[in-house]
Amino acid sequence: MTTPNPEKQPLTALVNREAPLDPAQYEARGGWRGIRRALSMSPDDVIEEVKNSKLRGRGGAGFNTGLKWSFVPKEPAKDRLKYVVANGDEMEPGTFKDRILVEGNPLQLIEGMMITGHAIQADHGIIFLRGEYHLGLERLQKAVIQAREAGWLGKNIQGSGFDFDIHVHPSGGRYICGEETALITALEGRRANPRSKPPFPQVGGLWGAPTVVNNIETFSNVPPILANGKEWYLGLSNCEDGGTKLYGVSGRAKNPGVFELPLGTSLGVILNDYAGGMQDGYKLRAFLPGGASTAFLGAEHENILMDYPSPEKAGSRLGTGLAILLDDRTCPIGMLKNLEHFFAQESCGWCTPCRDGLPWVERLLTVIEDGQGTQEDIDRLHDAARMIGPMGRTFCAHAPGAIAPLSSGLTLFAEDFQRHIRQQRCTFSQGRSAEQA
Ligand code: NAD
Repeated sequence: MTTPNPEKQPLTALVNREAPLDPAQYEARGGWRGIRRALSMSPDDVIEEVKNSKLRGRGGAGFNTGLKWSFVPKEPAKDRLKYVVANGDEMEPGTFKDRILVEGNPLQLIEGMMITGHAIQADHGIIFLRGEYHLGLERLQKAVIQAREAGWLGKNIQGSGFDFDIHVHPSGGRYICGEETALITALEGRRANPRSKPPFPQVGGLWGAPTVVNNIETFSNVPPILANGKEWYLGLSNCEDGGTKLYGVSGRAKNPGVFELPLGTSLGVILNDYAGGMQDGYKLRAFLPGGASTAFLGAEHENILMDYPSPEKAGSRLGTGLAILLDDRTCPIGMLKNLEHFFAQESCGWCTPCRDGLPWVERLLTVIEDGQGTQEDIDRLHDAARMIGPMGRTFCAHAPGAIAPLSSGLTLFAEDFQRHIRQQRCTFSQGRSAEQA
């Protein structure tokens, strides 16, 4: 990552991957200003401030954060149990942004959860962390202990009368545990099956109690919003929503990684100005804008803004904002097969279209990639996409997410599918490019 500018990069300004700041160092660098200001405001005013900052959920769905908090019933914490849950089960393929925040600046996440606790009048927070993030787990646990010892967590925080404490819970290690209702079920000690919504967690979440679930990056945005105000936050972005975004690329870029940039930066700028451009001998052919569960966009879209509306207008979604690149020498059918293998393996098995449909899709792609496919197999893939893809046929967004790259890929790479059938082999073998295949 490049050296962050604290005025323009509030998420990464205090990140130190070698040794995260302790509570006193954090304070000396401007930390805890957000919670101090929040505690001087009413819970409803904090919610309004965050709502009007136009912070949208950074986990992938982009729901307005303050609006989500506003749905929580208003009773004080002493009268009603409520929870603040940080979703750190970062398992989206190609997405590795929250890891940087938990490893490099866990106190900003903790402060964001505290502000949320004040806003929704909850006194209990849980951080649900991807099981493989061993260093993140160690650092989060240490940060929670340090914050407690320094009087920033626990009873009567800094003499304010506000109580809030946090527990860290490592995930059992399945992709579906990151789906918010499955995450809640897992925290309850049960098999991580998603539940239908409504009820949304804000009214009926963990053990039936009102629960706000936000992504790690979302919570990490909250302290700078409260410390500097919504106008400052709105001024950080290149679009109508507020703030910066942790963007990134993986694939055949020269310098794949994560970069904090104004929300609404184009993929072209992220790739060429920050990730070093494509590796020599490779051209960008298409990209998944934000993780494996977004639809492919062709390279001609590399200059659209990576805000929330623009990828949607082009036929995809921003998702997590970490793009996966497809170059001109990689077989798109092989890439789709790998993606669908992941989704088939990670289905929780609860809903039939997802449990049975995704392995079927994977098998059809395998056959076509191997040069054994027929036109009927392509037709079956179209049928499967139509049957499994629409929202509402399954409890959660796992199957629709899995079908997003397939549906778009069937259109965008139609000629590649046909060539595999005609030539009865993978036409990208021996390092040929899409033009030569
Ligand atoms: P969603 O749109 O159903 O919900 C997003 C959030 O808004 C949830 O917290 C939900 O409770 C709230 N919400 C939505 N509609 C609401 C309403 N009418 N009333 C009250 N609250 C409402 O999306 P989702 O299924 O939670 O998430 C899907 C996203 O997750 C995808 O966009 C995908 O990109 C992303 N994802 C991320 C990762 C990762 O590792 N970061 C992994 C898998 C998927």
